[in-house]
Amino acid sequence: MQPRLAIPAIAPGGRVAWLRRTGLPAPLHLAGALARYGHLSPAERFRAAVTALALARLDPDDPRLDALTFGEWLARRGQSPRALAGLWELIGRPTLNLPASEASLALAVRVFQIGLLSDAAAGDIGWATAPLSEVHDAPARRALADAGVDVRLRWRATQVTQEGDGWTVEGEADRVVADAVILAVPHERLAPLLPADALDAPERLTALGRSPIVNLHVVFDRPVTELELAAGVGSPIQWVFDRTRAAGVRSGQYLAVSLSAADREMSLSNDELRSRHLAALAELFPAASGAKVARFLVSREHAATFRAGPGVAAQRPGARTRLPGLALAGAFTDTGWPATMEGAVRSGQAAAEEVRDTLRRPLPAVAVAT
Ligand SMILES: Cc1cc2nc3c(=O)[nH]c(=O)nc-3n(C[C@H](O)[C@H](O)[C@H](O)COP(=O)(O)OP(=O)(O)OC[C@H]3O[C@@H](n4cnc5c(N)ncnc54)[C@H](O)[C@@H]3O)c2cc1C
Repeated sequence: MQPRLAIPAIAPGGRVAWLRRTGLPAPLHLAGALARYGHLSPAERFRAAVTALALARLDPDDPRLDALTFGEWLARRGQSPRALAGLWELIGRPTLNLPASEASLALAVRVFQIGLLSDAAAGDIGWATAPLSEVHDAPARRALADAGVDVRLRWRATQVTQEGDGWTVEGEADRVVADAVILAVPHERLAPLLPADALDAPERLTALGRSPIVNLHVVFDRPVTELELAAGVGSPIQWVFDRTRAAGVRSGQYLAVSLSAADREMSLSNDELRSRHLAALAELFPAASGAKVARFLVSREHAATFRAGPGVAAQRPGARTRLPGLALAGAFTDTGWPATMEGAVRSGQAAAEEVRDTLRRPLPAVAVAT
């Protein structure tokens, strides 16, 4: 975790402006950074500060906010295209996985209020310095094993049926009989598993849509930047992270470029992504233009998250289904959060509480299909 939020925002030519918080309480913690933010004119900085204060006063649970896009609202507040691209999109696009012009204002308000406007430390950025299997998988497995949970990996659920007071989850090889079931698969995988009548409006799951993320993994033969992370401004590079140490790369530098709301990038070939983004990296980090590329890999997640557009709040199901003992979990459920790890965890807690309340017993044996 950063001790204090510090984002170097880099424009082509290597021009850096820092978004750094001070020790002041929110929202004053960002006032100094905004006042000095060199990618905007002084008038744009002033208007951005006034807009941030207006954003802090909105209620993310107000259904009217979910009818508007974040972009429409920012335009009404006089935000210029430059302020949009150079400031608001830096935070909005990766957290909502949509550009402001398509994202629900309600979810944008939630992100900016929680991350930047209510608690000064909430926006400090953390990133994994170890492989994610060590960060998420191993500790979770240890905790589950300590709690006596039987975890079955690569066990694909094919059907969920209610039998008497209990439930049966069919797998490809065997079946699990349980008092209750929490279905925690992505929304696009849910429909075939859901028993009939489980949801009032199962067609809403399709309406949640999808938004892609593309990651580019570039290993240079030499270090090209000293920054551990950076955001691109006026560049096709959105965010870039130095993964050299985390990945155990011994020579050169490994940069991971993260591209959110990557509809356009999904349609580009690996060669097109390579030429476009290597040139863009060289514009941000001039040392990259003299470096050789030892490896270049692309990973595409076509359904990385649901589409957090206007009207999405009404499409998200709750943890409770119409069938007692069957609950839903997943970042797509109605957590009020965009599709994030924290939203997923919150949804799991809501589902566990739902099942416990339904059975009116202490924690039952639960089959979790994940
Ligand atoms: C490239 C990428 C980068 C991201 N970066 C961030 C980030 O930096 N910060 C952040 O907070 N969030 C990030 N997210 C979003 C975050 O990962 C998701 O919101 C979160 O993982 C959703 O959790 P979930 O439990 O709802 O679903 P998932 O994590 O998708 O888990 C669902 C599980 O169900 C399993 N499954 C599917 N079908 C079946 C079946 N029939 N039977 C059994 N199991 C099944 C799947 O294999 C999967 O393991 C990122 C997502 C992607 C794709």
